[in-house]
Amino acid sequence: MSSTVFKGGIHPEYHKELTATMAISVMKPPQKVVIPLNQHIGAPCEPLDSIAVDSEVKKGQKIAESGSFVSAPIHASVSGKVTAIGPYNHPLGRPVEAITIESDGQDQWDEKIKPPGNPEKLTPEDIRKVVREAGIVGLGGATFPAHVKLSPPGDKKIDVVVINGAECEPYLTADHRVMLEKPEKIVFGLKMMMKALNAEKGIIGVEDNKPDAIKVMEQAAAEDDNITVAPLHTKYPQGAEKMLIQVTTGRIVPSGGLPLEVGVVNHNVGTAVAVTDAVREGRPLIERVLTATGSGMTRPSNLLVRVGTLVSEVIELCGGLKENTHKLVIGGPMMGIAQPNPDIPVIKGTSGILALTEEDIYLAESSPCIRCAKCVDSCPVYLMPTSIAQAAEHGLFKRAEKLHAMDCFECGCCAYVCPSKIPLTQLIRIAKAEITKANKR
Ligand code: SF4
Ligand code: SF4
Repeated sequence: MSSTVFKGGIHPEYHKELTATMAISVMKPPQKVVIPLNQHIGAPCEPLDSIAVDSEVKKGQKIAESGSFVSAPIHASVSGKVTAIGPYNHPLGRPVEAITIESDGQDQWDEKIKPPGNPEKLTPEDIRKVVREAGIVGLGGATFPAHVKLSPPGDKKIDVVVINGAECEPYLTADHRVMLEKPEKIVFGLKMMMKALNAEKGIIGVEDNKPDAIKVMEQAAAEDDNITVAPLHTKYPQGAEKMLIQVTTGRIVPSGGLPLEVGVVNHNVGTAVAVTDAVREGRPLIERVLTATGSGMTRPSNLLVRVGTLVSEVIELCGGLKENTHKLVIGGPMMGIAQPNPDIPVIKGTSGILALTEEDIYLAESSPCIRCAKCVDSCPVYLMPTSIAQAAEHGLFKRAEKLHAMDCFECGCCAYVCPSKIPLTQLIRIAKAEITKANKR
């Protein structure tokens, strides 16, 4: 196994002590859930013909799907009655279609949910079908449908499955707790994914600022000769797909390429648990573990929350926001998305709810570039952030494309280190959106 350290990156203050020792608490099912039809990368879902306002639904019942391969069905996260189908605020910005369900307080499972059979006897195709039907997507935040990653083209041999336990984003500790509390399910889910891909090897990558998780995962994988735990030198953005694959396997995913081109598929620890629940019990993905934290959160916590729960209710459970809260973010501080208000639902990709006070945010006007090249040094994918940002500022999007702007995965390292406080990531994000738009024409 390689101990390679990837190029660039940063060492931000991690603030994980706020929640790292807090066990996952189960949040009571809410009275109302708002379940967006777009919670994943790929085609949004449509409500099933049987679902309309006033329909009675059970917990775990499929309520929406898409005919597209790159998509994942959506399930009711409580039992009750559909009270609305229409646009609702979404963590990604603009409102999207959503199904609102008022709970009947019974929390009754759909009787159709049953174990798909002896997991040991499931074929690779069976596993892919179970994972798809369960609506499992990447729970690290990327929300790529998991069954798609388990279905590589026939000419691509996958020999390694890498499980992401890096959790390199500051503040977040949900994955850390999942590793401490559900290690056996992570290893079992990994084995199912290896079987689906006919992969010989599994690697669980964990940053060395979580020594307890490394120990627990090593114990859980001790019986499996083909699964190893890779302790990783702590550095942001270690959990990004390309970086994690490099440090765990020594393989470099090419510019514009996918991990499967180097024989690797990568999944998050939470995704592995979801695969286990689906394969053993037939359970769809209707809840997830998230970290509600930050200096503005009255009682920081790790919580198991139903998909569709309003963020405002999670915050209320955590004692509310402190008066000096300045910013609310969904996700971590580096790659998360700032929110104007908490009237948005928790979705499958919600790994964190972060409340920051003014003390945590360095508010400064940007000033001209002093050409120090710190942004270039920090970029883990060898880009020239300053040049791309300048091209974006001047509307030169073709030039930004030639500078490989599309390789930017918006980790925020360049903006973090820039002494002139230039919003480099924001400018590059604009360039990427314009390039995508132009290429669709
Ligand atoms: S250019 Fe993109 S990938 Fe590179 S450091 Fe900046 S945000 Fe990260
Ligand atoms: S870090 Fe900021 S000031 Fe330095 S070269 Fe990059 S954009 Fe310019």
